[in-house]
Amino acid sequence: MTLVLVQIVAVTLLASFRTGLKTAVWHSMLGFVVYQYAGAELIHPIHRSTIRDVIAFVLAVWLVTLATAAFASVNERELRRRNYDLQGLANLSRRLEETPRAEQICQRLVDAVHDDFLAPRVAIAVGRDTWTLVASVNTGTTNLSPLMDHSVHIAVRERRTVRLGVLRADLDPWLAQLFPRARRLLLVPLLAGNTVNGVLVAEHNPRFGSRVDRRVVTMLERYASQTALALVNSWLLEQISHLAATDMLTGVANRRTLEQNLDRMFALAGRGMRPISLIMVDIDHFKRINDTYGHQVGDRTLQRVAQVLRSSCRSSDLVARYGGEEFVVVLPDTDCDGAAVVAETLRQRIQALEEEPRVTASLGVATFPLHGGTPDQVLSVADAALYQSKESGRNRVTVATVGSEPSTRSPQPL
Ligand code: GH3
Ligand code: MG
Ligand code: MG
Repeated sequence: MTLVLVQIVAVTLLASFRTGLKTAVWHSMLGFVVYQYAGAELIHPIHRSTIRDVIAFVLAVWLVTLATAAFASVNERELRRRNYDLQGLANLSRRLEETPRAEQICQRLVDAVHDDFLAPRVAIAVGRDTWTLVASVNTGTTNLSPLMDHSVHIAVRERRTVRLGVLRADLDPWLAQLFPRARRLLLVPLLAGNTVNGVLVAEHNPRFGSRVDRRVVTMLERYASQTALALVNSWLLEQISHLAATDMLTGVANRRTLEQNLDRMFALAGRGMRPISLIMVDIDHFKRINDTYGHQVGDRTLQRVAQVLRSSCRSSDLVARYGGEEFVVVLPDTDCDGAAVVAETLRQRIQALEEEPRVTASLGVATFPLHGGTPDQVLSVADAALYQSKESGRNRVTVATVGSEPSTRSPQPL
């Protein structure tokens, strides 16, 4: 009897509570069968049991089995729940690794929280300097800043999850616009190392009662910290690619970026039969500035000229530093005449720079497909036009012509 009970306890705990119940059924049947066989004198046991002994045995078996099974089933449920949580976390980290883009990272987090925790409404605001709403599920819209909210402030300052019972629009206007009439919100800070770079807001599903499980809060915090790290990596990558594409001194695109973009832009323009114009800009007598005022003043002059070029162009244009004191401006969808007008404006604005030492620049204009079919061809025609500007006395714009001498425009009075 004792051995049978020990076996049932072991099976229930080590295998599963269902196997324990099956073993109990088996031993109960065995008890009755042995009793019947002994009554029919088919077997001759050492100790002849009465029906009361058999019933006591079966009762003891079931008592022990049910007690152990209840305990084991709680354990199994807990294990299943942990397994589910770990699966969710592993799925999220796999999905976060698939994209380096910050908006997609945020969208994946809100989707995961919506699906895994059955949160009816979810939102996330992140940023480096200022925070903005980046992704959400089923929320309203807002132009407000999350940092206006008292509760978000507490979550950020104390670096802990804030549980919000009743939402007050006067204290938390951002949350009130995003989660109108919300009853229970969880505000989880996105912590990466020592910095908080955003906040995740999830609405508690009323189906699960009014109490928010500690386990849910812990899991949300893990989801948030995984995302915070992915965001930091994404921003670092963005910063590195920006640095690799930019000229350190002037902040405009570097030559490598220019070449990569020209190939792409020419391919697009070719397909759409659209023109692209290039303006080559070279500062006049720049060596003299270096020689007279020193390299630092020379550098500052390069920055001022680059700033003029940048501020004079459309967002679809590209300004790049081509060499020492030479720049290239790429104007998509602009024909030769349009580019000549832009070039003349640039020349005048450089000449008008008031800070000493005053500078002027010579410019050359060439257009695709009029002057060449490839970036290299159009660049070299623009360079030849620029050379013509230098030859004709500097501080002027020369537009390349087709099959004849380029036409140079003398400087106009400002
Ligand atoms: P031109 O009117 O014919 O263009 O004469 P220039 O003096 O501008 O042309 P040149 O090619 O003789 O000199 C260009 C000078 O630009 C020489 C070089 O020292 C200077 N330079 C190139 N890169 C930099 C830079 O990054 N900073 C500074 N300060 N000077 C630079
Ligand atoms: Mg030069
Ligand atoms: Mg020069």
